[in-house]
Amino acid sequence: MGEIDTSADNETFRQQLREAFAAANPGKPGASAEERRQWVREYHGKLMDMRANGPSWPREYGGMDLPFEKQVIYAEESAKARVPGQLGTGYSICGPTIIKYATSDQKERWLPALLSSREAWAQGFSEPEAGSDLPNLKTSAVRDGDYYIVNGQKLWSSNGHSADRLFTLVRTGTPGPDQPKHWGISYLIIDAKTPGITVRPIKEMTGGTDFAEIFFTDVRVPVTDRIGEEHLGWGLVRTSLGHERAAGTLNTALNYRRVVTEVLQLAKDLGVTGDPLIRQQLADFEARVRILYVSGARTIADITSKGEPGPASSVSRLFVTSFEQDLHEFVVNMLGAHGMLARKDPHSIEKGRWVWGFLRTRASTIGAGTAEIQKNTVGERVLGLPHEPSVK
Ligand SMILES: Cc1cc2nc3c(=O)[nH]c(=O)nc-3n(C[C@H](O)[C@H](O)[C@H](O)COP(=O)(O)OP(=O)(O)OC[C@H]3O[C@@H](n4cnc5c(N)ncnc54)[C@H](O)[C@@H]3O)c2cc1C
Repeated sequence: MGEIDTSADNETFRQQLREAFAAANPGKPGASAEERRQWVREYHGKLMDMRANGPSWPREYGGMDLPFEKQVIYAEESAKARVPGQLGTGYSICGPTIIKYATSDQKERWLPALLSSREAWAQGFSEPEAGSDLPNLKTSAVRDGDYYIVNGQKLWSSNGHSADRLFTLVRTGTPGPDQPKHWGISYLIIDAKTPGITVRPIKEMTGGTDFAEIFFTDVRVPVTDRIGEEHLGWGLVRTSLGHERAAGTLNTALNYRRVVTEVLQLAKDLGVTGDPLIRQQLADFEARVRILYVSGARTIADITSKGEPGPASSVSRLFVTSFEQDLHEFVVNMLGAHGMLARKDPHSIEKGRWVWGFLRTRASTIGAGTAEIQKNTVGERVLGLPHEPSVK
């Protein structure tokens, strides 16, 4: 199959995408984590060869540079075909930051690797004393000729243990008394195999290990791997966080569209749809998943027209996270005692999928900024309310 004709009308384009997704599908993934990663790499590598990858990314770096409507069609068809997302968090969070702020040499080095999943990147922003208060970060990067020497610790890095590269925030300078505390922060891309890096997986209550803590001891990072100006990395953070909070909303909405239909079927199979309380909640999820779709489409429209998701990304994030927590809680309750059984239990329902989701989504209102921080952003930057008093 050749390249996709992006000038084709919407229906032809939809059909071409379906064919491309079917042609790129490498079949069933293997059982191990590494086999699954290899499967994702193969899928995205093939899609990129067909020019059917990166709907919003520039064409010169392998993307499709689609207008709004076609990006929505792309999201719909890829959800239907169950195309996996790129490996790690680099494609969705750091990619747009590179597109906006990096040099052309950096774009050439990194963007195709992210798009094709040849490399998986992990985010190294949070630290033990820097989560909501991110500018409080302490990991230092001291200039030594053409290198920075990095020392410190990062925490809660999703997929940190399987990452090829880390996109990090480090402190290159100390703000003076008249400077804001986010001055002196720089945005560094660090090769995860550099000597001096230790990665320790963190076990979660789901039983999985999707997070890691990362320690840096005298790690040498080329100055050419810094994005944007030295000390002024905070200017790039808003782009990264905006995309982290919202850019995937449409894909999430489309995936949850399928899940809500499955929940409805499950309720019918259990014979509980006569219960008026259950019916009311099912109707509520149906309404919310439709709102989620519109919210996701609006985010894509904002990114296409303004170049950024903007502070309204916090509205989407709040909506998605409360929706997925409520949905899983509802299903676990509906299933009763069996709903609590995990994957390996022979009496578990759908291999413990719902209780796993219930446990996983407890963290949703913390990741990408806590619900309280999203509410502050909505209050201050969307509604224009007074800023909360700063605690010095
Ligand atoms: C699923 C998940 C994935 C994550 N992935 C990554 C990742 O890949 N890379 C990475 O760097 N980090 C990641 N994190 C870390 C995440 O960004 C932080 O956990 C988050 O920013 C909160 O920081 P904290 O844990 O230090 O809590 P704190 O900031 O210490 O907050 C503690 C409590 O105080 C509240 N609080 C703090 N400040 C305020 C305020 N101003 N107003 C009101 N309430 C406030 C918070 O809402 C929270 O309830 C992830 C976290 C989760 C749960």
